[in-house]
Amino acid sequence: MKVNNTIVISIGQAGNQIASSFWKTLCQEHGIDPLSGSVAPGTSPRGNWSSFFSQLGESGSGSFVPRAVMVDLEPSVIEHVKSTSGSLFNPANLISRQEGAGGNFAVGYSGAGREVLPEVMSRVTFEIDKCDNVGGIIVIHSTGGGTGSGFGSLLIESIKEKYPEAPVLSCAVLPSPQVSSVVTEPYNTVFALNCLRRTADACLIFDNEALFELAHRKWNIESPTVDDLNLLITEALAGITASMRFSGFLTVEISLRELLTNLVPQPSLHFLMCAFAPLTPPDRSKFEEMGVEDMIKSLFDNGSVFAACSPMEGRFLSTAVLYRGIMEDKPLADASLAAMREKLPLTYWIPTAFKIGYVEQSGISHRKSMVLLANNTEIARVLDRICHNFDKLWQRKAFANWYLNEGMNEEQIIALRASSQELIQSYQVAEESGAKAKSQDESVTASRAYAGGEDPRRTSSVSLRDLVDRR
Ligand code: GDP
Repeated sequence: MKVNNTIVISIGQAGNQIASSFWKTLCQEHGIDPLSGSVAPGTSPRGNWSSFFSQLGESGSGSFVPRAVMVDLEPSVIEHVKSTSGSLFNPANLISRQEGAGGNFAVGYSGAGREVLPEVMSRVTFEIDKCDNVGGIIVIHSTGGGTGSGFGSLLIESIKEKYPEAPVLSCAVLPSPQVSSVVTEPYNTVFALNCLRRTADACLIFDNEALFELAHRKWNIESPTVDDLNLLITEALAGITASMRFSGFLTVEISLRELLTNLVPQPSLHFLMCAFAPLTPPDRSKFEEMGVEDMIKSLFDNGSVFAACSPMEGRFLSTAVLYRGIMEDKPLADASLAAMREKLPLTYWIPTAFKIGYVEQSGISHRKSMVLLANNTEIARVLDRICHNFDKLWQRKAFANWYLNEGMNEEQIIALRASSQELIQSYQVAEESGAKAKSQDESVTASRAYAGGEDPRRTSSVSLRDLVDRR
C-alpha cells in the first residue's frame, strides 16, 4: 500500500517557530540529521519516512528533505530558520518578504499577502507534484498577527480552490494577553476563524491561554516563553502525526484523511482541541514514568487540554486517542479507554465516534505517551472569549481604521463577527440536542425506576449558555 504523503506549510512568526521545533523532532524520531537531512551510512530512516520527507539522490547516498513550505511577510524568522537548519530544507521553499503584515489581517489577506501568493502556490504545487499519494496538508499559523491570520486564510482558500480533494488541517494558535499584548488580536482572530470555518477541512486549536497555564502549572515555569509553549505544541503534533509516520500495531498507518473523517461528523463542526499525557516537565520525563491508567485519566482531565475550556462539561462529538510506546500496555490501555468512554459526555446522535490508534515507536521525550484529539462543544467557550474581546474593541470602533484603510468595510466586519456567533451557536445546538436526548433517555430510565420507587425528576442537562454565562 502507498504511504500517504503529508505537506506542512508554516506561516508567520508563530507558525515558523513551531514548525522549526516540529521538524527537529521529526528528524530525531526518524534518525535523520537535522542539519543535513542525511542518515548514518548504510541505513535508512526509521518508519514511513516518505510520509513527511522526500528523498534526494540515490538510496544509500541521498538525503531526506522535509515536505515543508515556510512563509513569512517579514524576513527575521525565515532568516533564523536558514541560519540554524543547515541544508535540511529546500531553500526555494523558504519564502519571505521585507515589510511584514503590521499585525493586520487585511494586509495578509488582501495586500502584501496577494503579492506573495503566486510564488507560494507554485512551491505548494511543486511539493504536491512530488507526492505519490497526497495524504493531506497541515498549515501551522497563529490567528493573532497579520501574516498567520490573513495570509494563512488566503492560502488555505487558494489551496482548496486548486486542490479540493486534498484534506487541509489548520493548526491555529489563538492569542492570549498573558503571552502577547497586541490589542488588535481579537479582530484578526475573528476574521481568520471565519475563513477557516469556510475553507479548512478541520482546525486544531492551540490556545496560548491554556498553553501558558499548562507550562506554568505542570512544568513549574514561573513565566513561560513562547519556546516553552512551542514544546508543548510539538509534543502534541508529533503524537498526532506518529500514526501517519509509523505503522500501527497490527494495523496500517492512520492517514490525515482518515483522522479527519472520524473527527468531523458535520463539515460545519470542525474545530478540534487536543491534550497530551504525560505532562511531566521535560527535564524529569526520563526519570518519572506515568502508568497507562493515570495517563488516560490525565488526558481527559479538564486541566490538561490545550484550549482554555472544560471538555468534560461539554459534549464530545468525536474522539481519537493515539498511544505510542510499549505494546505490552495495549490490553490495559484498551480496557482503561473502554472504561473512560463509558464516563464521557458523548452526544446522543453519534455515540460511537471513539477512535484508538497504537504506534510502537516512542516519542523523543517519553517512552510512553498519548494524545487526545477531540471535537467537543466546549470549544465554543474559547470562541466566545475571543468574540467578547472583539466586541469590547468594536463597541468603541477602536483601531477600526487599520482595517477600513486596507479596504475592509463596516458591513463586512459586522458580517464576519456575526458568522463567528453562528459558529458558537452551532456548537450550542449540538450540545443542547445531545444533552436533551440524554435527558429524555434518563427520564425514560427514571420513570422505569420510579415504578420501582425512585424519583424520576432527578434528570439533568447543562446547556452551553449556562456554561458560557458561568465564565
Ligand atoms: P504573524 O507573523 O504576523 O502571523 O504574527 P505572529 O505569528 O507573531 O502572531 C502573533 C500572535 O502569535 C500572538 O498572539 C503571539 O502571542 C503568538 N505567537 C508569536 N510567536 C509565537 C510562538 O512561537 N508560539 C506561540 N505559541 N505563539 C506565538
